[in-house]
Amino acid sequence: MEDIVLRLSEVQEISGAMVALYDGSDRLRYANRAFREVYFIDPDETPLWADIMRRNFALSRGTIIRAVSFEEWLVSTQARRGKVGFRAFETDLFDGRWLWMTETVDAEGWMLCIASDITSIRATERKVRQDRDFALKVAQTDELTGIPNRRFVLARAEEIISRANATASEICGCLAILDLDHFKAINDRFGHSAGDIVLRDFATTIHAMVRRLDSLGRVGGEEFALVLPGADLLDAEKIVQRMLSRVRLSRPLGRIKPAFGYTFSAGIALVRPGDTLVTLYERADKALYRAKLGGRNRICLEGESRNEPAPVI
Ligand code: GH3
Ligand code: MG
Ligand code: MG
Repeated sequence: MEDIVLRLSEVQEISGAMVALYDGSDRLRYANRAFREVYFIDPDETPLWADIMRRNFALSRGTIIRAVSFEEWLVSTQARRGKVGFRAFETDLFDGRWLWMTETVDAEGWMLCIASDITSIRATERKVRQDRDFALKVAQTDELTGIPNRRFVLARAEEIISRANATASEICGCLAILDLDHFKAINDRFGHSAGDIVLRDFATTIHAMVRRLDSLGRVGGEEFALVLPGADLLDAEKIVQRMLSRVRLSRPLGRIKPAFGYTFSAGIALVRPGDTLVTLYERADKALYRAKLGGRNRICLEGESRNEPAPVI
């Protein structure tokens, strides 16, 4: 077996196919020669994916990035990167080459990327395929904040629900609903466009804290959903608590109102066998309602109140 692993790594070094492995924090842990050449990575380096893209973008090499700003591109790309088990797409490089990239993600978030050079094949339909990928991205993205929309994030919730129904005993994850506090009053006091700035600030602040396997999306207005595969209620509470502490420090209205800060309330429910999106969302929403009643700026877990026992399944 060891012989074969050694042989595999030797063959990968001479292969024209690009092979790389990222861990759950999106740090590059292995890349063969072809991959390192395309993305300008030294043999002993283990950079974060975002840093590889950022430094290549600055030097106009590697992947061509079509966006108003790199950071905006990063948010929208990271929001969808590594959230599903398998993804494949075409990507073009500054040097004129086209790659067919596949991404395979395991349960702990490790991602195997394999890319091949397709510059000379299927060039005629390339525009159609790029348009399709762009349309898909638009269909999954919230226009105001650049993070995933309701359709995308609720599909991720459906996935952990299916897993819970298939594997009865395991902890399959949690759904948290995050709702900004007194947002109507923010709009009323500072105007709708200031409200939009707060929504964007919230989305980018939280998004930067979302682990790669987790998904954040705007489900409507000032309500956001966070899907946390594999997390139990206490893990989820800890994660959302860290987000709340960070959001409390944010001062997004700088010039308009330097001292202005805002908060959110959250309700969290654990996925259980027998759940549907409706039942899961309802429990998270009830917990959110308690957080609001309890004074806002706080997190409630499902079943914490005597009036709302945890469901018996
Ligand atoms: P609570 O603390 O109970 O959540 O109170 P709230 O004021 O946050 O909640 P409410 O549901 O009463 O008000 C939500 C407001 O969000 C009302 C709506 O005008 C505003 N809103 C919804 N979408 C947008 C948007 O895209 N931009 C802005 N600026 N405001 C929005
Ligand atoms: Mg609100
Ligand atoms: Mg609301």
